[in-house]
Amino acid sequence: MRYLPPFFMLHKYPMKKLNQHPATWISPRVVAASLDRHNGSSLAPYDSLNVSLGVGDAPKTVLANRQLIKQTLNIPQLISARQNHGDQILILDQPLTHDQEFDGYDALITNQTGLGLMIQQADCQAVLLHDPLTPSVAAIHCGWRGSVLNIIDKTIRSMMDTFHTDPTALRAYISPSLGPCCAEFINYRSELPPALHRFQARDNHFNFRQISHMHLTSAGVRPENIDQAGICTACSPDYFSYRRACRSSSPLQGITGRNGSIIALR
Ligand SMILES: [Zn+2]
Repeated sequence: MRYLPPFFMLHKYPMKKLNQHPATWISPRVVAASLDRHNGSSLAPYDSLNVSLGVGDAPKTVLANRQLIKQTLNIPQLISARQNHGDQILILDQPLTHDQEFDGYDALITNQTGLGLMIQQADCQAVLLHDPLTPSVAAIHCGWRGSVLNIIDKTIRSMMDTFHTDPTALRAYISPSLGPCCAEFINYRSELPPALHRFQARDNHFNFRQISHMHLTSAGVRPENIDQAGICTACSPDYFSYRRACRSSSPLQGITGRNGSIIALR
């Protein structure tokens, strides 16, 4: 027997609506969007659409948030990774029948429809790529370590090797992330290679979005095919931010949730 809640319960708990920041190049064939932190089920300090199982939030609540994302974006399977700021790339070229979180990858690539590739971030960039010709998609977790490793170039090369992607056909989206207003790197001389020092916007502050733009165009992506959300996660209270949670004025001591950015072929 199927249990249906009585009407008053449906009325009391209406379906929540998630706030999407979509790529400008989405189409009926591809969904690509970042979600803000609102309208999930997690309690403070993970309030409320935390997608990470690795930051101390209740797993049941995180899975409920992920289920809501699947329903909202109409994605059958949600695929993610326990990211570690490295440059390992996972290629998914076979169908998957259920949600999976793989260990130790920072980029996911697929040519399979219905697989939502999700990046978990709190200031790092999610760089989403769509190749409409092959067709295939990629989701890249790119923090400053990813920029140093040029994981963007490695992922595009992997798409070229695996699916014969032509980079000039790629559409790219750089998610909300730490802006040059807040990306202060006091130890940049030891952390960033000299080639990236020219992206210093002002004293010790770096423009990592511009670095990603450079890595994309150097790999062959056309500038007109690159969309940037342009939102700073540390400035906007609508997003989780590790930097903001680490500020001396914050009682959070670095504990916060992770935003989700997702791309999927339909
Ligand atoms: Zn900022």
